[in-house]
Amino acid sequence: MTHLHSDHVVGIPDVWLTGWIPAAYGRRATPLEVWGPAGTKDMMAHLEKAFAWDIQTRSKEKNKAEDGAKVNAQDIEEGFIYEQDGIKVIAFQVNHATFIDSALGYRIDYAGRSVILSGDTRYSANLVRFAKGADVIIQEVAAAPDKPGKSSALVRQILGFHTSPEEAGRVFKQVKPKLAVYSHIVLLTTDATIPPPTVAELISRTQKVYDGALEMGEDLLTITIGDKVAVTKFASSSKKKVPEAIR
Ligand SMILES: [Zn+2]
Ligand SMILES: [Zn+2]
Repeated sequence: MTHLHSDHVVGIPDVWLTGWIPAAYGRRATPLEVWGPAGTKDMMAHLEKAFAWDIQTRSKEKNKAEDGAKVNAQDIEEGFIYEQDGIKVIAFQVNHATFIDSALGYRIDYAGRSVILSGDTRYSANLVRFAKGADVIIQEVAAAPDKPGKSSALVRQILGFHTSPEEAGRVFKQVKPKLAVYSHIVLLTTDATIPPPTVAELISRTQKVYDGALEMGEDLLTITIGDKVAVTKFASSSKKKVPEAIR
């Protein structure tokens, strides 16, 4: 987990418990590993209590691997956190400007390739420090129209927790990835009568600062990092994977 805002954690019980149902989906027979910043362990312990009824009733079903309902949760801090089969994961502190400031980004290295997950953050010099030279950066972004409106104060506050397209461009310019990808794309409006920025505006505002490769994240987008970075989009209408671009 990068941090514990609800938009990042409400899906966890489903991943955890549906993955354990033997007859249906995942058949996971081992405890679910959940690592995240301070508070993760507490949150998971409370979820185990919240779902006690579900776990108890389903545990009585036949052929049930009870370990699959267990959770191994760990609170982690900035630093080297994981290594297995050549995959290395480093967590780094970002700045989400929340009152309890424990938000992390991640760097994953494997076979000389690397990818950065920004997590939720405003512009963070620490992110740039850990991300330098990475092949791909997955970056959050948030934008609103310049025009003032009724919700301007609230929107300004929200924008203060996130990275603007211009700031993201600054990050990309410093990191110099082969590909930058926007994810967690927050497009706000200051007033019901003013439309939020379009994706095209998001891209053009970024490109004022950064002229490298930029992709908009979407569900099931697949990025293959080799000598080149290839992006495959999932065409939902035909249910076929269509190669979109190769860089
Ligand atoms: Zn957040
Ligand atoms: Zn978020």
